Amino acid sequence: MRQSKVLTIGEVLVEIVATERGDGFREPVKLIGPFPSGAPAIFIDQVGKLGQAAAIISRVGDDDFGHVNLDRLKRDGVDVSGIEVDPLGTTGSAFVRYREDGGRNFVFNIRHSACGTIELKGPAADLVESCTHMHVMGSSLYAPSVVDAVLKATRTIKENGGTVSFDPNLRAEILNSPGMREALATVLAETDLFLPSGEELFLFSPADSEAEAIANLLKSGVKAVVLKRGAAGASYVDATREISLPGFRVTEVDPTGAGDCFGATFVTFWLGGADPETALRYANAAGARAVTRSGPMEGASTRAELDALIAEQRS
Ligand code: ATP
Ligand code: MG
Repeated sequence: MRQSKVLTIGEVLVEIVATERGDGFREPVKLIGPFPSGAPAIFIDQVGKLGQAAAIISRVGDDDFGHVNLDRLKRDGVDVSGIEVDPLGTTGSAFVRYREDGGRNFVFNIRHSACGTIELKGPAADLVESCTHMHVMGSSLYAPSVVDAVLKATRTIKENGGTVSFDPNLRAEILNSPGMREALATVLAETDLFLPSGEELFLFSPADSEAEAIANLLKSGVKAVVLKRGAAGASYVDATREISLPGFRVTEVDPTGAGDCFGATFVTFWLGGADPETALRYANAAGARAVTRSGPMEGASTRAELDALIAEQRS
């Protein structure tokens, strides 16, 4: 059997965060950053940090924001041969300010940044052939060439006998952009592991209850649904089992990245042959650790750090 290798495709950004809560950016505010970011980048960093072979296809500019990401991903063991450095491009960015009510305001530069165009050519095309698992982030379907690249890679990896995981990671506003629902439905049809959070469970399976939505998804060919429940933990359901585990008790500092670290850890343990309860426990621990650090990728964990949290809270 080939050694497993996880691939993802999508936005690589820096995040710059307002240090004080409030409404948006219409007045000067104190900022901290740049932090390496982008949902697929956070996901793949966590996979690499757990020692699982991992790669990402994206584009950055030949600027400090690009190098912040390349350096971090390389340090954590991610194959960055599929990140093209565009000498004329500018790395994507997101400015984020938390409101008093816990909501967030963003100023994004993604579509017109270096990662606004991603193509499967050269080293990126080689990576698709060498990887055995594809992880799709719904948030990465932000531009036509990126949608194409994601759909093509997903198809190829499936045809080569690999597996697919899918985190819709969507806000309702993006859902109605042209072609989005069709692209998402195409991904779902190839999905083995579906990882929604909260209401995302009902995106493709309108139903009156969680159980009914999950049953519909399993009937449509998804092998397992892993539902993220924030501080309350997570659930795993497949054709034969249903497991729910509570969240770990931690102090939340910055929730960004929790879902990505959770998904990365679940997928890594699942590919490694762990039973679903073990995979869910470690994923919960990774999500919990992620919220204790400010900066989206700063809370990614090593195996030893997850073991320590699990040991500490085993009652
Ligand atoms: P994101 O904002 O990164 O997209 P998400 O909505 O995809 O997150 P959440 O359900 O918020 O996902 O978080 C993912 C997982 O992280 C949860 O299932 C849980 O295991 C863990 N987690 C999140 N918040 C907390 C918390 N406050 N305390 C403990 N664990 C948490
Ligand atoms: Mg999410």
